[in-house]
Amino acid sequence: MAEQKSLHRKLSELSSNLWWSWQPEVSEIFRQLEPTRWSELMHNPVVLLKEYTEERLEQRATEMALHSRIHAAYRRWNKYMESAETWGQTHADLLAFKPVAYFSAEFGIHESLPIYSGGLGVLAGDHLKSSSDLGIPLVGVGLFYREGYFSQNIDDNGWQKEIYNENVISELPIKPACDKSGQQVEISVETRWGAIFARVWHIQVGRIPLYLLDTNVEKNSDEIRNLTSRLYGGDHRTRIRQEIVLGIGGVRALAKLGIEPSVIHLNEGHSAFAALDVIRQKMHDDGMSFNDALRETAAMSVFTTHTPVPAGHDRFGGDLINEHVGPLGDQLGLNYDGLMGLGRVNPQDHGEPFTMTVLAFKLSRHANAVSSLHGVVSRRMWASLWPWQSEDELPIGHITNGVHMGTWLAPQMRSIYDRVLPEKWYTRSGEPDTWAGVKNIIPSELWETHQTQKHRLIVYARSRLVKQAKRYGASQDEIDALSKVLDPFALLVGFARRFAPYKRADLLLRDLDVLAELITNTKQPVQFVFAGKSHPADDHGKAILQRIHRITQQEPFKGRIVLLEDYDINLGRHLVQGVDVWLNNPRRPLEASGTSGQKVILNGGLNCSILDGWWAEAFDGKNGFAIGSGRTHVNSDIQDDRDAEYLRNVLRNEVIPLYYDRDADDLPLEWINRMKRSIRTLGWRFNADRQVMDYVRHTYVPSAGGLSCKMP
Ligand SMILES: *Cc1c(COP(=O)(O)O)cnc(C)c1O
Repeated sequence: MAEQKSLHRKLSELSSNLWWSWQPEVSEIFRQLEPTRWSELMHNPVVLLKEYTEERLEQRATEMALHSRIHAAYRRWNKYMESAETWGQTHADLLAFKPVAYFSAEFGIHESLPIYSGGLGVLAGDHLKSSSDLGIPLVGVGLFYREGYFSQNIDDNGWQKEIYNENVISELPIKPACDKSGQQVEISVETRWGAIFARVWHIQVGRIPLYLLDTNVEKNSDEIRNLTSRLYGGDHRTRIRQEIVLGIGGVRALAKLGIEPSVIHLNEGHSAFAALDVIRQKMHDDGMSFNDALRETAAMSVFTTHTPVPAGHDRFGGDLINEHVGPLGDQLGLNYDGLMGLGRVNPQDHGEPFTMTVLAFKLSRHANAVSSLHGVVSRRMWASLWPWQSEDELPIGHITNGVHMGTWLAPQMRSIYDRVLPEKWYTRSGEPDTWAGVKNIIPSELWETHQTQKHRLIVYARSRLVKQAKRYGASQDEIDALSKVLDPFALLVGFARRFAPYKRADLLLRDLDVLAELITNTKQPVQFVFAGKSHPADDHGKAILQRIHRITQQEPFKGRIVLLEDYDINLGRHLVQGVDVWLNNPRRPLEASGTSGQKVILNGGLNCSILDGWWAEAFDGKNGFAIGSGRTHVNSDIQDDRDAEYLRNVLRNEVIPLYYDRDADDLPLEWINRMKRSIRTLGWRFNADRQVMDYVRHTYVPSAGGLSCKMP
C-alpha cells in the first residue's frame, strides 16, 4: 500500500518531519534533485518540492535513478516512527502517557529553521533528536521567531551587518497545532494592561513534537504582533513579554493540546514562569493550597542552568514583574512582595531585582549544571540561596552536555565505524563498550578518510570566500587567489562560536610576531579558519570580529587565516567534519560546557582547549591537547596574557610537531593514535544519547515518580 503513494507524496511526507535532517541518505536524495541549487535553497526540501509537479519529479527521479532510494528512505522512516523496541520503552516507561515537556527559548535543529543563536539552541535540538532516537516520551516548547536570528554579513571594513529574513510558514515543515476540534490552539496571558494572545505551531522532529508559540495574531496590537519576531532582540520589556509567552503560554498551550506533562524541564531561567502557571493549574483544577501546589510543582520540575555568564541570567525590576506577572500572582494569592520574593535570593531585600534563575531554583527540586566544573561554579555562584548548607551539599548536580551523533558525524566516518563496531552500534553510541573496536581501525584508512573530509571543507571554504569577495566587488586576481587558499596537506585549526568576549576569539592574536612565525614556517605550516556571529548589541564582540577580519587581509596572514561569514549549523557541520584541530580558548571558568568541540571527536578532529567546561573532565593527557593547566587569575588581563602564552606554547611544542611527525608512508602515526584514543574515550561520553539517558535516569524518572507517590 505504502508503495502506491507517488514519489512526490513520499518526499513531501519525508520533508514534513525533520527526521530527514539527520539522515545523510535522505538529504542526499534532495540534493540530487537540484545539485547546483540545493545550497542556495538553504537545504530546505519544502521549498524545493514546491517547484516540482508529480510528473516533473517522476522524470527527474528517473534521470537520477532515485526511485529505489526514495522508497527505501520512506520505508526506513516508517519503521523508525513505529518501532517500539527502544531504550525509552524499557527505561522511561513511567513517562509513557505523560511526557516530559522540554522548555527552551531556542531550538537549533537544522539550518533551514533559523530559530537559534548558538550552543543553547543546538543543544536543545540535539536533545530532541536523541530523545526521538531513544524513544523518550518528550515534547519541546519554544517560540516561533518570524525573523529568527540574523544572517551575518561582514562589510569590507570588517564590521558585522545583521540581515533579517522572514521565516515563511508555508516554506517550513510547520503546521498549526490543533486541539481536538481541529482548531489551531490559541492561548492568552494576562498583563495589567490586557491580554497577549499567541497561536501555536507544530514541528515534528522524528518522534518528538515541538510546539512553538507565535504572537503574530490579529487580536494583538502591532507591537505585540512583533513580540516574537526576533530571538534575543529588544529590551527588558520585550524580554519579559517573550518569557511570559514561553513559560505561562507554553504551559497553557500544552493543556489545550490535551498534553499533561509529568515533568517540566526548564532550560535556563527564560522559561521559569512555566512553573508558576503549573502551580496555578493545580490550585485551580485540584483545589490545592498554594504551598501544596508549589511543593508538587517543584517535585516535577527539572531546572538546567547553562551558563555562569551574567548576561544569561535575566533580572527584572518590580515594575516590569508587576505589570506582566502581577495578574498571575493575584490568582496565586500572592501580593507584590510575595511574588517578588520568589525571584529574590533574599525575599526581604526590597532592593533586590527579580532573577529568573532564582525563580527556577526555587520552583524545581532537581537542578543541574552542564559539566562537572560548571557544577562547582554554579554551587558557589548560588550558595546564598541555601545559606544553611555547605557548598558541596547544595542541591545542584551536573549532567554534562553531549552532541547528537547522527547530526554531526560525516557519512564517510560512519562507514568506517560500520566496519569495526558491533552490529547496530548506532543505536548504542552512548555506551562505552560499543566503541572498543575503534582500536582495530587501520591507521591509513582513518587518515585517508579524514583527508577526504578535510579536502571537502577546504573546497567549501574557498567557494564561500569567493562568494563573499564578489559581493564586495573583488578583482579577478583576488578571486583567483581566494580559490586557492588553504593547503590540504598543512595543519588546519578551526575556531567557530558566538563571538561573546569571554570566548576570546582573538587570544591567538595577542602576539602577532609569534603567530606570523608559526604560519609562515614552510616545513611545518599551520593555518586557521574562523567563523562566528556577535550578538547585534555587542559592540565589543563585533570589535573582536573586526580585528580578526583585518588580520585576514594583511600579509603574511592573508590566505593562511581565513574568516567565513554567517556561522550556522551548516557551516558548523562542514567545519567539525574537516578540521585537524578544534581550538577552544574561553576565559575559565566561564564556558559552562561548550559543545562544538564534542562534534569533532567522532569525525577524527582533536581538541586543543583550555581546561574549562566539558574539556576539564575529558582530557586525559593523550586524547587531545590542553592549553595551560586550569590556572586562573583574578585579573583577567593577566589571565589572558598567560593563556595566550600557553596557547602559543602548546601549538609550537606539541600540536605542530606531532602533526608533522611522519613515518615512511607520510602517516602521522602518533597523531592517528590520539585520534583513535579521542574517539574511543570521548565519543560515547560527550554524546547526546548518553546525556538524555542521564536526564531520564537521574531527573525525569525520579521527578515523574515523585508525582505519583503523593504525600498523604
Ligand atoms: C555547536 C554549535 C554551537 C555551540 O558551540 P560552543 O563551542 O558550545 O560555543 C554554536 N553555534 C553553532 C552553529 C553550533 O553548531
